[in-house]
Amino acid sequence: MSPHKSKNIHPTLPSLALPEQGLKKKELIESFKQYYIHLLGRDENCRTPYYAFEAISLALRDRLMERWKATHKKYKYSGCRRGFYLSMEYLLGRSLTNSMLNLGAKDAVSEGLSELGIETDELINAELDAGLGNGGLGRLAACFMDSCATMQLPVIGYGLRYEYGMFTQNIVNGEQVEKPDHWLRRGNIWEIERLEYSHRIKFCGRTQLQTDESGKKRVHWIETSDVLAVPFDTPVPGYCNDTVNTLRLWKAVATEEFNLDEFNEGDYAEAVAEKISAENITMVLYPNDANENGKELRLRQQYFLASASLQDVVTHWVALHGEDFSQFAAKNCFQLNDTHPSIAVAELMRLLIDNHGLGWQDAWTITRNTMAYTNHTLLPEALEKWPVSLMRGLLPRLMEIIFEINAHFLAEVSAHWPGDFERQRRMSLIEEGEEQQVRMAYLAIVGSYSVNGVAELHSRLLQRDLFSDFYALWPQKFNNKTNGVTPRRWLIASNPGLAALISETIGDDWMSDLSLLKKLLPYAEDAEFRQRWYRTKQLAKQKLIEFKQQQHDIDINLEALFDVQVKRIHEYKRQLLNILHVIYLYNRIKKGDTANWVPRCVLIGGKAAPGYKAAKKIIKLINNVADVINSDPDTQGKLQLVFLSDYSVLAMEKICPGADLSEQISTAGKEASGTGNMKLMMNGAVTIGTLDGANIEILEEVGEDNFFLFGLTEAQVAERRKHYDPVSTIEQDEDLRQVVKLLECGHFNQFEPGIFDELIGSIKSPNDPWMTVADFRSYIDTQKRVEEAYRDRDRWIKMSIINCANSGKFSTDRTISEYNRDIWKLESQPVGTK
Ligand SMILES: *Cc1c(COP(=O)(O)O)cnc(C)c1O
Repeated sequence: MSPHKSKNIHPTLPSLALPEQGLKKKELIESFKQYYIHLLGRDENCRTPYYAFEAISLALRDRLMERWKATHKKYKYSGCRRGFYLSMEYLLGRSLTNSMLNLGAKDAVSEGLSELGIETDELINAELDAGLGNGGLGRLAACFMDSCATMQLPVIGYGLRYEYGMFTQNIVNGEQVEKPDHWLRRGNIWEIERLEYSHRIKFCGRTQLQTDESGKKRVHWIETSDVLAVPFDTPVPGYCNDTVNTLRLWKAVATEEFNLDEFNEGDYAEAVAEKISAENITMVLYPNDANENGKELRLRQQYFLASASLQDVVTHWVALHGEDFSQFAAKNCFQLNDTHPSIAVAELMRLLIDNHGLGWQDAWTITRNTMAYTNHTLLPEALEKWPVSLMRGLLPRLMEIIFEINAHFLAEVSAHWPGDFERQRRMSLIEEGEEQQVRMAYLAIVGSYSVNGVAELHSRLLQRDLFSDFYALWPQKFNNKTNGVTPRRWLIASNPGLAALISETIGDDWMSDLSLLKKLLPYAEDAEFRQRWYRTKQLAKQKLIEFKQQQHDIDINLEALFDVQVKRIHEYKRQLLNILHVIYLYNRIKKGDTANWVPRCVLIGGKAAPGYKAAKKIIKLINNVADVINSDPDTQGKLQLVFLSDYSVLAMEKICPGADLSEQISTAGKEASGTGNMKLMMNGAVTIGTLDGANIEILEEVGEDNFFLFGLTEAQVAERRKHYDPVSTIEQDEDLRQVVKLLECGHFNQFEPGIFDELIGSIKSPNDPWMTVADFRSYIDTQKRVEEAYRDRDRWIKMSIINCANSGKFSTDRTISEYNRDIWKLESQPVGTK
């Protein structure tokens, strides 16, 4: 059964090394032609760029493959400690550009293809977007993979190979319509199926205590319905360093057994159908960002990921070390990307105890020294809980183990705070109530040696509020790791014009050490350099306009301030505040109050979770306001509002180079970190933002003169909440009063009466959790400062340069080096292909 045993099938297989595949133009194009003609069966008459995309990708994959094998060998023979990143989401985007860049083959490929009369861009655009994530959390996992490989760290990413990724968003009559994203319909050129490393995942059934021959008692999990987890591996190349790491995504496949009873009773079709339904586990990504929904299939997905990945690591361990687990924790660590894979804590206990015969205490010591947990949200509604009844039915053995972990843990709590039953109730892994629930975040904390938040403020608030009891018990577990983004994708590949200007000016070492961007600072004072920076930005803005025009024919004013808010649509991110400002500007135009006007194009994009009604209504409002504004002759040349539909990684790659202003306007204390803010800053956008998440650290890097700060602080939000009275705030602010009046009188929904009533009601409610109205005045006044700054082109360009120059901290190379220094403690493993 163990797939690793199959390696003995060919005990004397000779070395299969091929001559090395070169990266020169001629060699690459030779490979390209071979794939195009021989494997894909196409010729010069084929006008579909997709096949040429496949052929060039296969050529590059061959080069990656050699380095992949070398990296694998290096890790295997060095016996190094390993890290495993467990994430339900990897928002990868396209791979071709990244592969060319990281292999150092970009110019060779472009030149070679161009000699054949092929536009590289056309091939790049033929690739589908791998959207296996919702937003920031999934994109973070993808950026982490790039940085781990670039830093040559022995890290494997584990995740799920969803057949359908994040839905495609269409806008019909101003409303979001979701279309399934069957991203695998043409296959996936980058992945390799590895059936030989499949694992069996158990569900349902029951447990039974049995005594084995030696008199030892063991729990058996029996009468289960099993599903196979089949791995698909994707190479993750480091930046020009010959390292290629692995992203291993699991696909659910039916086992080949049939339910014999049903089979014999003649229910052949039912028996087959039941097996097929096993494959539903990895059929679709749940499209919820920061709001959980407790569906059984989701729990199945989580356990499927945790069990397959842990079995993979444990099987590998046993193949090398037999049943000796004494060094397991010294050689392995798992980073849990949010609570989604946190059932891994109980699963590792199960594997060690039930499958490998360890005692509770030994297994617990190993588990607690192997798991590390990253929290991603302060929103209480996003904290995962699973009903005990559901978990008992689906994962009966895991439920027993969680109860036992809890019993041991509560004894620890009681020893620390004798007689404090209230605290025991608060900290229990099981929430009592009408329905008992498992608190997954607490399971993750109790089972981990490290707990981190994703920005300074967020980590502090976790310790102070959400996890204060746990912080009091184990302060040394808690730490911060401020998020980042990979500069390879988010600057070098997405903004080649700016990257070239930077390299011409300061050399190209910054590409693997982003702190070197600081060398740009003196050039902010150089008028000629500023002129070049400005021209580069204008070109990027022109490209952004062209990208938008593919969706929607709209004339966008290149001279306008490009004011960008792209991210998931969520009340806490306050797209509504942005809209209130747009309506305010529109109202000023209508009143003729336009002296010294700065033309502005407001671009808003993002997807709403399909079941999140308020978020969908916000999309409708943006589109309705856009219709009114954009069709009014009075606004021409002054104000535009554009909804960018189907926001995705590939869209962001086009958007960030062209942004002037980055809107990061969440209610203080609600955005854990944000990473869109970092991408935009890196590309020279200036931020208007609240003191929230990583905005605070961006502000620290650039200084108050280069950041438009507004709004209540987290502490002021908490204070103001006690006597929050938005209706009187509206009454007292004439500008706001007029904006709300325009909304209430139905100016933006003339033929759709009442559709925005709830939305308007929500911001007028004293219980509005996001306190949109409270920050209106400060936001409007700060937007005026933005306009003053933009009117002074020299000043604006300086700010833009200074933002980019100080974005070095926000490289995931920095983030990963901190994870490694404080949590993983892995040694870098340089690889040579020779
Ligand atoms: C970076 C990114 C995000 C995260 O954006 P935030 O502004 O941090 O919420 C979400 N989706 C995509 C496609 C991204 O590239």
